[in-house]
Amino acid sequence: PSDLPFSALRTIDLRGRELSPAELKAAMPRAETTTDVAADIVTAIIDDVRARGFGALAELASKFDGVEQVHPLVPRQALRDALDGLDPEVRAGLEESIRRARLFAQAQRPDDVGVGIADGATVTQRWVPVRRVGLYVPGGLAVYPSSVVMNVVPAQAAGVASLALASPPQKEFGGLPHPTILAAAELLGIDEVYAVGGAQAIAAFAYGIPASAGGPALEPVDVVTGPGNVFVATAKRLVKGVVGIDAEAGPTEIAVLADSSADPKLVAADLISQAEHDPNAASVLVTDSPELAVAVRAELDVQVPATKHSERVRTALSGQQSAVVLVDNLDAGIAVCNAYGAEHLEVQTSDAPAAAARISNAGAIFVGSYSPVSLGDYCSGSNHVLPTAGTAAFSSGLNVTTFMRAIQVIDYSREALREVSGHVVALSRAEDLPAHGEAVSIRFAG
Ligand code: NAD
Repeated sequence: PSDLPFSALRTIDLRGRELSPAELKAAMPRAETTTDVAADIVTAIIDDVRARGFGALAELASKFDGVEQVHPLVPRQALRDALDGLDPEVRAGLEESIRRARLFAQAQRPDDVGVGIADGATVTQRWVPVRRVGLYVPGGLAVYPSSVVMNVVPAQAAGVASLALASPPQKEFGGLPHPTILAAAELLGIDEVYAVGGAQAIAAFAYGIPASAGGPALEPVDVVTGPGNVFVATAKRLVKGVVGIDAEAGPTEIAVLADSSADPKLVAADLISQAEHDPNAASVLVTDSPELAVAVRAELDVQVPATKHSERVRTALSGQQSAVVLVDNLDAGIAVCNAYGAEHLEVQTSDAPAAAARISNAGAIFVGSYSPVSLGDYCSGSNHVLPTAGTAAFSSGLNVTTFMRAIQVIDYSREALREVSGHVVALSRAEDLPAHGEAVSIRFAG
């Protein structure tokens, strides 16, 4: 209703309603399925890149990024120059971000497990990194040197041998990606960087591009990761199967679960901080306190006009993907958050760790008033490439295992095989695949 402060943010009132998890999910605010709208555009871009390689990339760079390009590989010298020219405070921030992310990523490396199934029979699960990865770093509305860190650190901790990075060309930087992105790449020891943005970057990584007169080939990768806008997220969905992908990390989302103990100033600031990413970003407050909801709206009235990207923030907050959700009590709030599956969930309640422990569906959970999402965006040690649009229900944020596979290794002795051979033969007969059984019994014939 328009008599509320900051009425641009709609209210979804779930008080007094008994809804199943599926009904709750349907009641939650979401953007229209923009990936469907983008699918036609992105399919055409992927086909064009496959058919015309670097020629297509040059044309798309001209069309979407306003730059003329011969070959998108960034010269080594440009990477060194970018690091030399980096603001020392930004460099210190990136170094700390890398240090914290490495601490957590290195600890995530899974151990191999071997099990003695019977005498002379072992099965082992061996974790092995993929050979080559393509890492996408967005750079349309904002530039994300932090995403360089978030992509590269877990890939390196996994032991990936070959890493390539792509980020949109920037007109004001001579058609190269933003210098801070190049500096972050140099800091991390990445020397294969392409000035390519959007769906075309994902297509180039997935299918590779042969060498041309303008420069060397872009070798296809095994896994593509990284956040991006709806075109990037759609492209990743479409190349999945040709390559592995991480979660669908589209336009950002924040949900804040808050009770009357929360500070409305902080809640409003956090909702704004994610709305700043993208007009399609989602900011959702879930609360059992109508008084807090009004106080947060009043704070938005103060803070939104004062923030630098005020228009983008207002668009995001007034979109149908953003809302204040009113619930009866904390239990109902937790059920709503679990149905929604936010990319980022902040818990600002009187006993935040206890409430957070009951959350089973979110990309990442930020506990209490001193763990804001902005901390996780840069410097918490956690990863900021996280599942959006409800995909947290079945996928995880970027981590070391995103870049690894588990290979099962089977090692049986003659005696161990003999012991189980009768069962293999019986089961192969049941499936009418007798050659399976014969491949075992032939080893013991005569
Ligand atoms: P981007 O790099 O994702 O996209 C820019 C590119 O999009 C351009 O280079 C162009 O190639 C392409 N493009 C633009 N308009 C197009 C059109 N009409 N048709 C086809 N292609 C088009 O940068 P961005 O736009 O700033 O988006 C970054 C996104 O990444 C934001 O939505 C932000 O919320 C998100 N993000 C998400 C996470 C996460 O973990 N989920 C983390 C960081 C950023």
